[in-house]
Amino acid sequence: MAEKITMSAEGVLHVPDNPIIPFIEGDGTGVDIWPAAKLVLDAAAAKYGKKVEWKEVLAGEKAFNETGNWLPDQTIEDFREFLIGIKGPLTTPVGGGFRSLNVALRQILDLYVCLRPVRWFSGVPSPVRHPELVDMVIFRENTEDVYSGLEVEAGTAAAEQLRSYLKDSFGWDIRDMSGIGIKPVSKAGSERLIRAAIKYAVDHHRPSVTLVHKGNIMKFTEGAFRKWGYELVREEFSDVAVGWDDCGGEPGDKILVKDSIADITLQQVLTRPAEFDVIATMNLNGDYLSDALAAQVGGIGIAPGANINYVTGHGIFEATHGTAPKYAGQDKVNPGSVLLSGVLMFEHLGWTDAASDIVRALETTIADKVVTYDFARLMDGATEVKCSEFASAIVDRL
Ligand code: NAP
Repeated sequence: MAEKITMSAEGVLHVPDNPIIPFIEGDGTGVDIWPAAKLVLDAAAAKYGKKVEWKEVLAGEKAFNETGNWLPDQTIEDFREFLIGIKGPLTTPVGGGFRSLNVALRQILDLYVCLRPVRWFSGVPSPVRHPELVDMVIFRENTEDVYSGLEVEAGTAAAEQLRSYLKDSFGWDIRDMSGIGIKPVSKAGSERLIRAAIKYAVDHHRPSVTLVHKGNIMKFTEGAFRKWGYELVREEFSDVAVGWDDCGGEPGDKILVKDSIADITLQQVLTRPAEFDVIATMNLNGDYLSDALAAQVGGIGIAPGANINYVTGHGIFEATHGTAPKYAGQDKVNPGSVLLSGVLMFEHLGWTDAASDIVRALETTIADKVVTYDFARLMDGATEVKCSEFASAIVDRL
């Protein structure tokens, strides 16, 4: 009998062997990558006597065509009720009332962590010489910062009103015809993100957490993020973690919490990747960093992601690329991103054996040079296979 995943009052997920998990197939190439990923996920789970009861929920074009609504209320209710879900890419509707369906889902469910693990899988073509040194997990704040949508357009009455208010109340001169955006960074928002990152480091035996910020310039937003992070280490994690300033960079057997300015971080993740482990950062920095890092380990076709609220237990695991409409329905693209998001979901559910098996089988498939077009064009002597054939090849090696 299929059952719901639940969360205890202590914040522990209870995962039955036959959980009901909602999925959004996704627009564009979603029709190709989702069935391929499902094939592999089901095969790996079955090895351990587990079976997911996949429950389709609608969003994007499929939802609009069937219900006239891009993001039906029932979809939100299902994600709320069943806690954990997975999704393919979604088209951003033009003039559909949403800035982005992905952002809407994150905001409605308050999924405050955007989790992006970035590691290299052996055999994957990479533009750097030592991609194996990249093994980082990015915790990007998902609800604040310049992405909050608090913007007014240049030349509008609202912009003029805000400009004169800022002039009158703060003496700030903002040039005529300026668009103005607000960058809120709260103590509570920063703390819950950094708390999740440190807990992850504890649970996964990671040696360090780096707070990435531009606090040298933006002192009361990004600088405050850094300050609140170090305070949190002292107040809540002193038994397991220590801040750089409190140990001079010598943490002993504790987790070292350090910080790094965003611009130099973008250089150092390239030149000294081994020094970075778990990264906690704000929305905009995290956006840049996630994609820059994904490029180092083989790019967008295989980068997994998740949006999580560790307090309510809600999580949506997702392909990080878009719908790639020019390839839709051709059974061509790489299903790796949504598949590895499923692996990340299995790990989150505690199904670590099945997750590890998939990673091993994926690596063997790539090592055998059986790959989709995106990798084939970067590898010598590769056998290019379709999306579905790539999935079958992984299942054969499970
Ligand atoms: P995109 O769909 O990510 O595609 C950009 C390029 O990335 C593709 O042309 C392809 O490169 C490569 N790519 C994407 N998926 C791949 C896969 N599975 N395997 C291998 N390569 C893959 O970006 P876009 O064209 O800018 O956006 C298209 C639509 O997706 C838009 O409506 C956008 O709003 C939406 N979008 C949704 C999400 C999401 O739901 N999370 C994220 C981003 C964008 P090559 O051409 O070099 O082969």
